[in-house]
Amino acid sequence: MTTENAYSEAMLGTARLSEAGGRVLTALEAAGFEAWIVGGWVRDALLDTTPGDVDVATSAPWQESEAVLEAAGLRVRETGTAHGTVTAVFGHEGVETTTYRVDGPYEDGRHPSSVEFVGSVELDLARRDFTVNAMAWHPTRGLLDPYRGEEDLEAGIIRAVGDPRTRFEEDGLRVLRAVRFAARLGFAIEPRTQDAVRALAPLLTRVSSERISTELRGILMAGRGGWPLREERETMFAAIPELEPMEGFAQHSRYHSLDVLCHVCRVMDYVEVYTGGVASEELRWCALLHDIGKPFTLQVDEAGQGHFYGHPAKGMEMTDKIMRRLALPEALRKRTVALVRLHDRPVQPTRASVLSILADLDALCPGQAPSLVRELMVIKRADAMAKAPEYRDYALEVDALDALAQRLLAEGAPYRVQDLAISGTDILELTGRSGGPWLGEVLRTLLQETMQGSLPNDHAALERRSTAIARGLEA
Ligand code: ATP
Ligand code: MG
Repeated sequence: MTTENAYSEAMLGTARLSEAGGRVLTALEAAGFEAWIVGGWVRDALLDTTPGDVDVATSAPWQESEAVLEAAGLRVRETGTAHGTVTAVFGHEGVETTTYRVDGPYEDGRHPSSVEFVGSVELDLARRDFTVNAMAWHPTRGLLDPYRGEEDLEAGIIRAVGDPRTRFEEDGLRVLRAVRFAARLGFAIEPRTQDAVRALAPLLTRVSSERISTELRGILMAGRGGWPLREERETMFAAIPELEPMEGFAQHSRYHSLDVLCHVCRVMDYVEVYTGGVASEELRWCALLHDIGKPFTLQVDEAGQGHFYGHPAKGMEMTDKIMRRLALPEALRKRTVALVRLHDRPVQPTRASVLSILADLDALCPGQAPSLVRELMVIKRADAMAKAPEYRDYALEVDALDALAQRLLAEGAPYRVQDLAISGTDILELTGRSGGPWLGEVLRTLLQETMQGSLPNDHAALERRSTAIARGLEA
């Protein structure tokens, strides 16, 4: 079934297919096999967005693909031969080349217990998750679209191929993939597919955290702010169960007019507003998780006001645990954890206070305070804007804090011992004493005093002060 649609032909000119993709198709077909470009590349090319990796489906068994592609001068890696996949490498590009297959039953809701190689591309397309992902394209044969994926693309719809419940029961991850594609493409989920997403979200508990992690990152990086948590919360709760207690959790506080979950959704929205929609991944994780400790730390005082003392520390601990479970990269986890820990720390528009937050960031993520402080300011602004209307002015104060932080960083104002205009060695020489814990104490005192501004950060002044402190220690 090849469409005559001029739109698709115009969008899918051969010029757009990478050289690597073209070589793989040509080599396989010259050897008498059939080969198609399938999946995400076709979808993205039709949408006229930059397509990602090229995936090829072919009638060739993988051993034959390997032989043919190597003979055509491509390097071939055996990246998943149990599922019929080899990757052809040309230049810096890898093209996953997979034998037409259908998946056997997903007995554990995770992996197909077997795959069966099949004789036609149509059968291969039938095993794919959503209509917009179940199209094949070939430079001369055109678009093969048995499930009307192109129509759904134009209408902006994510629709399961076949019966949604059956498809989600085969592989629970598809629930989360539906949300990821809807988020990324800004599409609506077709009603029957949506019902199945809601009803079967709990299947995610059977899916490995690594697979969940990939899709969750895709959802957050779609940059849709609070949308996934607002519209698809069943799925988000199933993916991260710690989110659920925030739902309907009243804050009993004059600062807040929303429950914790609605507040979080608004913070996620404002993070996108304040970054022009290109927030870093740690900011997006921080927005999602910053108040995750609140439901566990509420204390209501005699006047009926709610307080969440210790929620950043509790949130930090929970964030660390969640991100470890999802096997997220260590650098991302540490930056997120630092932002969650400090998101609620009061900062005054004074040199001492701003340097002290830089020092705290540096303690959690050594060397990263300059970039983290910008992100912390974004979270603080977003957090303020998501509070009750009369407390939103704080967002303006954050602008002043941000400007001051940038000025102090540009000046090289000290917030770490190594920023002092004197070193430990200098102090040892100066005092003639041998090293020991006292030296750390002297350096910390010098740092504190320069940060507070009572001591200038110049060598002579620091020498005088070190001598005095060391003498004091002797006394
Ligand atoms: P992206 O650009 O985000 O990588 P993609 O469509 O390439 O999008 P992948 O996760 O790389 O998404 O999967 C490639 C293709 O394989 C999909 O387009 C879909 O046809 C199929 N696919 C992947 N995972 C599944 C799954 N769990 N169930 C059914 N089909 C799947
Ligand atoms: Mg892909």
